[in-house]
Amino acid sequence: MQGATNIAEVLGQEKPTVSFEFFPPKSAAASERLFTTIHELKQLNPSFVSVTYGAGGSTRERTHKLVLRIMEQTTIPAIPHLTCINHSIDEIEEILLGYATAGVPAVLALRGDPPGEDLEYNRNQDAFPYAADLVSFIQKFNREIKTPQKGFGVGVAGFPEGHPDTQNRLKEMDHLRQKVDAGADYICTQLFFSNYSFLDFRDRCRLAGIDIPIIAGIMPITTRSGMERMADLAAGVHFPAQLQRMLQGANDDPAAFETAGSNYATTQCAELLSEGVDGLHFYTLNKGSATKQIATELNLGR
Ligand SMILES: Cc1cc2nc3c(=O)[nH]c(=O)nc-3n(C[C@H](O)[C@H](O)[C@H](O)COP(=O)(O)OP(=O)(O)OC[C@H]3O[C@@H](n4cnc5c(N)ncnc54)[C@H](O)[C@@H]3O)c2cc1C
Repeated sequence: MQGATNIAEVLGQEKPTVSFEFFPPKSAAASERLFTTIHELKQLNPSFVSVTYGAGGSTRERTHKLVLRIMEQTTIPAIPHLTCINHSIDEIEEILLGYATAGVPAVLALRGDPPGEDLEYNRNQDAFPYAADLVSFIQKFNREIKTPQKGFGVGVAGFPEGHPDTQNRLKEMDHLRQKVDAGADYICTQLFFSNYSFLDFRDRCRLAGIDIPIIAGIMPITTRSGMERMADLAAGVHFPAQLQRMLQGANDDPAAFETAGSNYATTQCAELLSEGVDGLHFYTLNKGSATKQIATELNLGR
């Protein structure tokens, strides 16, 4: 297994970074399909990949296994997501120790969301109320760690179009600032389809004194059902008329729909690159074709 990569250095040297997000598959067959995708996308020389963590820790083992397998079978630095909802401090520490021992380079530190089906969920049982507390805990862990590795890099989430729990956008920026002050190395944003939202968010961050890299979360839309699911999951994300017009033109032809979604994302990425974006992070949903098409068209990758 490769040694740990310093993610802050990677982000400083490889601007714009290109990276991919995967989720842990549920079956052996899905896992093999994912590794075919990973080997295809590897040709683009991504700076890193990240692996999601199921709500409330539901994919704890699968996230861990996928991160380790990526690091064993490729040379790509793999970054696990970690949420603090539904975990005790001891559990978080045990997870971090496992990652440190395996040489994992960084963690995306998140709050997570309370389990949707459990309306009585008591947040007092969580290790930490907010992601900023998890960032502080990881930095304390880094200072005290006794393995050869120096410690994890830390990423945090940012929301160009706002996080639904905080309607006051000035306060929301203060909360983001707290995560950065606690020791975050980079921000990865929620997906967005309006570049204005991202560029304005980036400006607002800089005005608030946040100067760490801000990586843009890009989701190429490939199916109508996927888009509808995403509108539910990424509450508050704006679907601009221009995007909807392009998708409507595809009518009910799935191939034309995927092409229209990829074309929109290509134009979006081209504009972000011309605006000097720090990095493009593709939400792949474990499929590689749209991302590969966009990356090839824009000559992305190292
Ligand atoms: C790039 C990315 C990857 C993600 N990956 C996953 C994943 O793998 N698994 C998963 O379950 N979820 C994931 N999520 C979703 C995320 O967990 C949720 O959106 C969650 O609601 C917010 O997480 P956060 O880390 O931004 O929380 P926080 O930064 O803690 O913020 C949550 C809310 O609390 C507010 N807040 C923060 N601090 C305070 C304070 N001191 N006082 C009052 N309010 C405060 C914020 O303004 C915000 O509204 C991801 C999101 C993004 C953008």
